[in-house]
Amino acid sequence: MQLSKSQSLFERATKSLVGGVNSPVRAFNSVGGNPLFIERGEGIHIFDVDGNEYIDLIGSYGPLILGHAHPKVTAAVKAAVDKSFTYGATTLGEVEMAEMVKEAYPQLEKVRFVNSGTEAVLSTIRLARAYTGNNKIVKFAGCYHGHTDALLVAAGSGLMTMGIPSSAGVPEKAVNDTLIAQYNNIESVKELIANNKNEIAAIFIEPVAGNMGVVVPEMDFMKELRKVTEEANILLVIDEVMTGFRKKFGGAQDYFGIAADITCMGKVIGGGMPVGAYGGKAAIMDLVSPLGNVYQAGTLSGSPIAMACGLATLKELKNYDYDRADRLGKQIKTYLEDAAKENGITIQVNQFGLMVNPFFTAVEVKDFETASTCDTKLFGKFFWAMAESGLYIPPSQFETWFLPINITDAEMDVVGSRIKKAFRTMSGDNN
Ligand SMILES: *Cc1c(COP(=O)(O)O)cnc(C)c1O
Repeated sequence: MQLSKSQSLFERATKSLVGGVNSPVRAFNSVGGNPLFIERGEGIHIFDVDGNEYIDLIGSYGPLILGHAHPKVTAAVKAAVDKSFTYGATTLGEVEMAEMVKEAYPQLEKVRFVNSGTEAVLSTIRLARAYTGNNKIVKFAGCYHGHTDALLVAAGSGLMTMGIPSSAGVPEKAVNDTLIAQYNNIESVKELIANNKNEIAAIFIEPVAGNMGVVVPEMDFMKELRKVTEEANILLVIDEVMTGFRKKFGGAQDYFGIAADITCMGKVIGGGMPVGAYGGKAAIMDLVSPLGNVYQAGTLSGSPIAMACGLATLKELKNYDYDRADRLGKQIKTYLEDAAKENGITIQVNQFGLMVNPFFTAVEVKDFETASTCDTKLFGKFFWAMAESGLYIPPSQFETWFLPINITDAEMDVVGSRIKKAFRTMSGDNN
């Protein structure tokens, strides 16, 4: 594989961008080599600056659910751009977007648009504390909610119930009120609630974890979580930044048959433009300024261009056959399992709709601890074998793959044969 142009661009990038990237997940530290520089995308395909073609299984880490440069989305963005970029005033697109979000998630009576998932989450923390008058918040080990201080806490051992910062520069004070529960383990939640009576504002959860690889919780766990939070007057914040609109139009909440008090969104909702959102019952949301005294603002929030992109994306998704998407997700899982088996390689594949992730371990992965058993070195080898066979996957064992929902059956066949080829390359049999 010819990568000389990517290599020299990366060398140039490192002289002026930190680590040559603008988000650390794009670095290749854990797989070796240098990041690819991508020039353009079309449908499921992307092309790097050296002219190599790949089928994109990253989808920009989630937003590109309709693949690259979808004609209807592109047209909507172009039409918006022609009018101007931003006005600092409410536009029709924002209202239409809010109505569309409410149609998908009837439990959201009011919505506020922001510019990223991180921003949605950090605004929600403030709102939850204001609404309940409590300061403590609970998160689950292995769940990621953006890079805001209060939730950037180590996802370590089961004993680590008091917050320990996992990033330098996060003062202990900022995480003193953050408690850690174990994913998929309702007893750990009940224990925290019992030990912190009337002190917890909210419990934050990824309804399907996607930031330690894909981990789908038990149906009962999610239903119990809703029940115990309600009984204890604790807000349940479901962070659907990754899962929103993905497996069902109504997100993971529709799948689990539960409704959050506050929902956080990002990624798909912007269709590739920077959009985040948080929303919930009016009684809670109306505390946000200008109606209430929880201050939250944004110069470019609800950007007309971003709204146009998101709205066009959601309009497409509304009529999409989500059952087919789930079938295709299962098909990828089978491709991976069969190819690994044929080559004597042990993996576990977790899947939720078109979120898929192979773990290089013999242990069933159901939480942070089991995810940590993976052979990350072997994954590095796999990553490059996949790139060579024309499949672009995240350069990390613990990042989820996202397939576009509109991938055709014929394209799926190509993905299948490229996966096969990658595993053969990996096991040293190049025939
Ligand atoms: C990506 C992600 C975030 C952060 O969103 P950004 O737009 O990257 O700030 C928050 N929560 C979850 C579940 C995510 O997957």
